[in-house]
Amino acid sequence: RRVLYEAAEVQHVNAGGKVPLGLQRKSLRILVTGGAGFVGSHLVDRLMDRGDSVIVVDNYFTGKKDNLIHHFGNPRFELIRHDVVEPILLEVDQIYHLACPASPVHYKFNPTNVVGTLNMLGLAKRVGARFLLTSTSEVYGDPLQHPQAETYWGNVNPIGVRSCYDEGKRTAETLTMDYHRGLGIEARIARIFNTYGPRMCIDDGRVVSNFVAQALRKEPLTVYGDGKQTRSFQFVSDLVEGLIRLMEGDHVGPFNLGNPGEFTMLELAEVVQEIIDRNARIEFRPNTEDDPHKRKPDITKAKQLLGWEPRVTLRKGLPLMVADFRHRIFGDQKEAGG
Ligand code: NAD
Ligand code: UDP
Ligand code: UDP
Repeated sequence: RRVLYEAAEVQHVNAGGKVPLGLQRKSLRILVTGGAGFVGSHLVDRLMDRGDSVIVVDNYFTGKKDNLIHHFGNPRFELIRHDVVEPILLEVDQIYHLACPASPVHYKFNPTNVVGTLNMLGLAKRVGARFLLTSTSEVYGDPLQHPQAETYWGNVNPIGVRSCYDEGKRTAETLTMDYHRGLGIEARIARIFNTYGPRMCIDDGRVVSNFVAQALRKEPLTVYGDGKQTRSFQFVSDLVEGLIRLMEGDHVGPFNLGNPGEFTMLELAEVVQEIIDRNARIEFRPNTEDDPHKRKPDITKAKQLLGWEPRVTLRKGLPLMVADFRHRIFGDQKEAGG
């Protein structure tokens, strides 16, 4: 890997000339799979800002070119339409592997988590790149331990409707650890808890995007089940900071990256009402099968080893997402008129 760093373009990253010469580092070539998606595009923004060269590989399954359009024309940026289920040859120093059909509506019957991860590990092996897997809190299934620490092995139904995602990510973790232990790949694993923010898919069926879009469109907020199930919602900038610290740090993980603030779905609906429309109605709907009852990250490990913890509360982060959704749903006209 050191050799690769030498081979990397000798372009010093010098934050506005303020970094003393001795501390300057070479710019890296970084692959972000799924970089046209919600989390990926925010990650790309941070990597571009700090002066690295970024290659995004995405098949636009749920991602959009729009999310990256502000980098078009920058010679340090490249966007490739490609499905990671097919092999690809690239030369890079680091791989952030995010490509994944991330929402329940999209993830059924899709081999991306297994075959796509295997290909990216093969790539990491061939070029000696450091590989970061974005796994998920769903590996804990419907957890019998609360909050969930990384040492918990989870409670997942292997044949359930969600298992393509849960078990797919569990397999991706297994492959990552096998390539790390058996083949010496430098690996990093993040277990991401529910994350929200600007650029989230509007209609992908997740709870935060559903409630926000529903409240803006003056539709009832659809609460599934009794609404007493809990989740912990993390703002996307906190996650991106955690992913970068994990990649740059010395620890393989897995690390939980999530906000420990825990809300029931009814509480979330109330916060959305507070922020968007106090009169928004709530409508109860039957819940989906195998829906985890509670979820809250124990982030002690990330605090200790990565010096990371989330900074943005739900009440601070949600308005930032609402502004973006308002703009995307109604366009400039409505926004200009308030
Ligand atoms: P997203 O759907 O916005 O992004 C995923 C991206 O991957 C999209 O751009 C999509 O087009 C691309 N993609 C999907 N299949 C692909 C394929 N076969 N080849 C190439 N590209 C492909 O989702 P996101 O929320 O940004 O999630 C990013 C990662 O973080 C995923 O791996 C997801 O599992 C993980 N994660 C996200 C959350 C969350 O709350 N957002 C929680 C846990 C884990
Ligand atoms: N692979 C890839 N790009 C590369 C190297 C490998 O897409 O630069 C794919 C390769 O086609 C294979 C997978 O990654 O399907 C695993 O590769 P590895 O070399 O680990 O396994 P092998 O090919 O030896 O089975
Ligand atoms: N949910 C809800 N209304 C919706 C969408 C989801 O009450 O319109 C619930 C869902 O049943 C689950 C929680 O919100 O208990 C989080 O769902 P999401 O799909 O956002 O994330 P995940 O289940 O993957 O944590």
